[in-house]
Amino acid sequence: MKIVSTEGFILSTTKYGESSKILNILTKDYGLIGVISKGCMSNKSNLRTVSERFLYATFNINYKEGKLSTLISADVINYFQYIRSDIKLIGYMTYLTELVDNVYKQNNDSEIYKIFISTVLKIEQKLDPMVLTNILETKCLNYLGVGLNLDCCVNCGSKSIVAISHKQGGFLCKNCYDNSGFTNKNALKTIRLYYYVDIGKISKLDISDDTEIEIDNFLDHYYKDYTGLYIKSKEFLNNLKKY
Ligand SMILES: [Zn+2]
Repeated sequence: MKIVSTEGFILSTTKYGESSKILNILTKDYGLIGVISKGCMSNKSNLRTVSERFLYATFNINYKEGKLSTLISADVINYFQYIRSDIKLIGYMTYLTELVDNVYKQNNDSEIYKIFISTVLKIEQKLDPMVLTNILETKCLNYLGVGLNLDCCVNCGSKSIVAISHKQGGFLCKNCYDNSGFTNKNALKTIRLYYYVDIGKISKLDISDDTEIEIDNFLDHYYKDYTGLYIKSKEFLNNLKKY
């Protein structure tokens, strides 16, 4: 057991005993860990306000590798006040936390933490939550072992692209096009951008509704058919969408 300090994000919490909680924290330095916050549900507890889901903080913990660690204190980096004030954004946040939890369990690459934190910070800065969610989804496919090939035709390597296909998992040229997926030129360019963009550097998003929706639909189907993930909150999120 050692005392450590690490940046992290509380993905979910579970009540434990009379007044404690177990926090499921995705951390920058130790991956996904379980941390007990003792007595945090009591009114007098200093840990009360820092033991809620969706909290981004520097956590000081008694760390036990592979076991339940114990929370000592936390310095808040972001409460995500804007996101918490809007039921639709809470829907996105719930989905993103569930998604990243699942992705991390399949592939504990430390990059997943970075792209997740950048995504939720941009949503808190009032950028389009659906586009940011789609960007994270596009990037996560790699960690799930079903990454899209968006550099050339998946079949023959040709650079003259006319479509993207679910079945083939990437771009297709005219000769290889199989009538699946979409052919909208802007959407083809944009999904490639989603894949390569550095989320932390996005300052504005200027994407037409048609393009956004085309890509969102594509990813929704691709996730259902090829990732093997079942994310409960996705249904709720789909009902909230603007189209
Ligand atoms: Zn081809």
